[in-house]
Amino acid sequence: MPREYSLEKTRNIGIIAHIDAGKTTVSERILFYTGKKHKIGEVHEGEAEMDWMDQERERGITITSAATTCFWAPRSEEDKKCRINLIDTPGHIDFTAEVQRSLRVLDGGVVVFDGVAGVEPQSETVYHQAEKFKVPLIGFINKMDRMGANFYHDLDAIHDRLTKNAFPIQLPIGAESEFLGVVDLLTQTAWVYKDEQGKDVEEIAIPEDLKASAEKYRHELIEAIVQHDEGLMNKYLEGQNVELSEIKRVLRQAVIANDIMPIMCGSALKNKGVQLLLDAICDFLPSPLDIPPVKGFNPRHPEQEETRPASDDEPFAAIAFKIAADPFVGKLCFFRVYSGKAEAGSYILNSSTGEKERLGRIVRMHANNREDVKEVYSGEIAAAVGLKSTFTGHTLCDEDHPIVLETISFPEPVIWVAIEPRTKVDQEKMGIALSKLAEEDPTFKVRTDEETMQTLIGGMGELHLDVLVERMKREFKVECNVGKPQVAYKETIKGTAEAEGKYIKQSGGRGQYGHCWIRVEPRARGEGFEFVDDVKGGSIPREFITPIQKGIKEALDKGVIAGYPMIDVKATVYDGSYHDVDSSEAAFKIAGSMALQEAARRATPILLEPIMKVEVITPESSMGDVIGNLNSKRGQIDEMRDRGQMKVIDAKVPLAEMFGYATEVRSMTQGRASYSMEFSHYQEVPSNVAETIKGEREKGKK
Ligand code: GDP
Repeated sequence: MPREYSLEKTRNIGIIAHIDAGKTTVSERILFYTGKKHKIGEVHEGEAEMDWMDQERERGITITSAATTCFWAPRSEEDKKCRINLIDTPGHIDFTAEVQRSLRVLDGGVVVFDGVAGVEPQSETVYHQAEKFKVPLIGFINKMDRMGANFYHDLDAIHDRLTKNAFPIQLPIGAESEFLGVVDLLTQTAWVYKDEQGKDVEEIAIPEDLKASAEKYRHELIEAIVQHDEGLMNKYLEGQNVELSEIKRVLRQAVIANDIMPIMCGSALKNKGVQLLLDAICDFLPSPLDIPPVKGFNPRHPEQEETRPASDDEPFAAIAFKIAADPFVGKLCFFRVYSGKAEAGSYILNSSTGEKERLGRIVRMHANNREDVKEVYSGEIAAAVGLKSTFTGHTLCDEDHPIVLETISFPEPVIWVAIEPRTKVDQEKMGIALSKLAEEDPTFKVRTDEETMQTLIGGMGELHLDVLVERMKREFKVECNVGKPQVAYKETIKGTAEAEGKYIKQSGGRGQYGHCWIRVEPRARGEGFEFVDDVKGGSIPREFITPIQKGIKEALDKGVIAGYPMIDVKATVYDGSYHDVDSSEAAFKIAGSMALQEAARRATPILLEPIMKVEVITPESSMGDVIGNLNSKRGQIDEMRDRGQMKVIDAKVPLAEMFGYATEVRSMTQGRASYSMEFSHYQEVPSNVAETIKGEREKGKK
């Protein structure tokens, strides 16, 4: 069976936003319009059909289908429908890892901004993540109908805080309750919605009072676009007429190269601007052909880098990016195919585990139904039923052409809490619930405390864990008591040091002989552990090097200050000795571990704590209290801004000080302030605080 939609007409996109900016509403409207196949300019029923979605979704924090497929034909190429795969990106602040993993598999994105609030912390974070993954973006300034909406304020904030390369391709006509439609700077026409609900729309000439500013912004836009094409630049400079299709072609290139972020606007709630946004998604965001071939390595020759261009003729390679529990079919594994094709019922290799798996059924999810498909092709996104041991981040590939694709890295938990089942029945169910939840969410971890034998769950913040405990209760009917949250401290070293590890026992019978010299050096935050073998002249035989590395890694699990894991250390083994008879792998492992502990003690070990990026929105009258309180929490105030009548405070505060902040801030401001926070980075704990932590850790052990 040939593919239905060409690669060129495929769009894998995600909608990313700060919570409440309107991500859900925009996504719903997209599914609504694409489901109804209404092109802009056609009258539709609106409300009634929209209702099923409103009923289906649960308000609040929802993480819905990982990928939904829909179709749209832009006005410019009505005969060429695009298949759009809308990849879900969670809007909640605690779930940045989820955003990251969806960014890994999408080719382009729409950032939704709140027309009133502008650039919020999460918009900033996701923008920078998108930048890191080189995901081309379109900006959509939503809620233009709301009191206080100001397109130009938002635009300034985008320029100030995100990028100077943001250029409006639309201007709003009016704002707040007078928001009537948009000027299209490319076609130089305007779309006005003739009623409040955006059901009836008409294309007209640019209104008189907007002509001057439309001229100005169009000029800036065109100047920016022509930079990307010499031919067009010359035409433009010579004052020749440049065709709309030419401008759009070059704008598309500039967007794909991450050089221009087009800015659009509308009101998703009032159905204004969403169809034009769909046109722009098809017109300007990349197809799988426009992105560089995905990279990976051959598991049989790990040093050998390989690439897979987006083509059906290449060997099959895909990445699993989300595991979801489906009430009807069980475990669904969402995957993105980078190259080649695969048939339902065929066997594939999970190159991350080395296991062969059968692709039972392949399904594609639509807004309100699921479709069984026989075959999936490069560039597509689908879900598999029947993969038993495949999890998020794993590569699926052709057995004869194995490749392990660059994986998605997830941050480690910054917080742990102990949970205890209420009854014996809960105990049994809890294990199942925890493993299911951890399968779905790679930032959610479960472990047993060695000393207390309690079950600990770890995640990206208090709220993240609250949500998971709540889900256990609701979906798995498990009741449990939750303990006090504990910060996930880490340890590292600041200096360089050398030390010897000697494990020698030679009294009677067969002895033990392991001996090595190692050097430890600090690495930058996030760089992880590195091991270097610099043993010369065979002072330690080859086969004992890996055991030394293992010993070092084991020792890193328990740092020398308070037993927290040590991170970002480079260890080089450079000398040692061995004994023909007594040397063994076990002896060298112990020697490696001893050497590491001693070297770490000499290399200025320090304790690290997670620092959170906190945003508090408060009335001016409480601002002094809020700031004083943040200061008392070892917080550092980064910025203070106005947002309408409210003040916004951006700060960095140690997580350890933020427990129970929700209650605190409420009582300080009579419930008028709100806040959000997310993990920012790990930072050295001041020495007086470190002493306290050490003391408590020791007490806990007794
Ligand atoms: P999400 O958290 O980003 O998914 O945001 P939602 O789509 O759930 O929207 C948050 C709130 O803003 C909801 O109450 C929506 O009804 C409202 N909202 C979304 N889009 C608009 C809009 O264009 N105009 C107005 N006035 N409200 C909107």
